Amino acid sequence: MLNQCLGIPHVSTGDMLRDRIRQGTEVGTAVAAKMQSGALVSDEVVNRMVEQRLSEPDAADGFVLDGYPRTQAQAEHLAGWLDGRGIRELVIYLAVDYNIVIARLTGRRQCPRCGTLYNLATQPPRVDEVCDLDGEKLVIRDDDNAEVIRERLDAYERQTRPVLAYFASAGRRVIEVDASNDPPEAVYQKICQSMECNDRSKNRC
Ligand SMILES: [Zn+2]
Repeated sequence: MLNQCLGIPHVSTGDMLRDRIRQGTEVGTAVAAKMQSGALVSDEVVNRMVEQRLSEPDAADGFVLDGYPRTQAQAEHLAGWLDGRGIRELVIYLAVDYNIVIARLTGRRQCPRCGTLYNLATQPPRVDEVCDLDGEKLVIRDDDNAEVIRERLDAYERQTRPVLAYFASAGRRVIEVDASNDPPEAVYQKICQSMECNDRSKNRC
């Protein structure tokens, strides 16, 4: 929703890594095992991948980063990269209760044929566990099983939460949006309102 309203690309490191795994590239093979165990991919690999993507022409007017930076080292690297290009960032922290995160992730299902995402809790298919579009039986993504989710939340606490403190202490613009219970459209509205306060001149929402 944000990339459509702002007219800039959505750069998701999770999607990029999954693409590389599907394509069977060297990077893909190396990260596949790590992602399946819930561990994070090395900073160096991710930094390089993101830099390459952000250097493409469609990102010249801005971009929405999703899933990055995920460690303080990545955040420091990104901050230096942005500063070197005179790009100002806005950090949006979507605050969600842990129990709600777990309920959402364990309920997530994907159609193996067309890729459509469902959630048994919030966006269930019309027929239980079956894709609305093509009748395919839905699957749980490899990185969405309960054990992997716990490992990801641990990794989040250890490695990603410090990113917020880093951005705040470095005087970067950070906004917090409560995303616990609202549907995506309502969260999106809150983000747009916050962006208006932070950057009224550029806001195109
Ligand atoms: Zn489908």
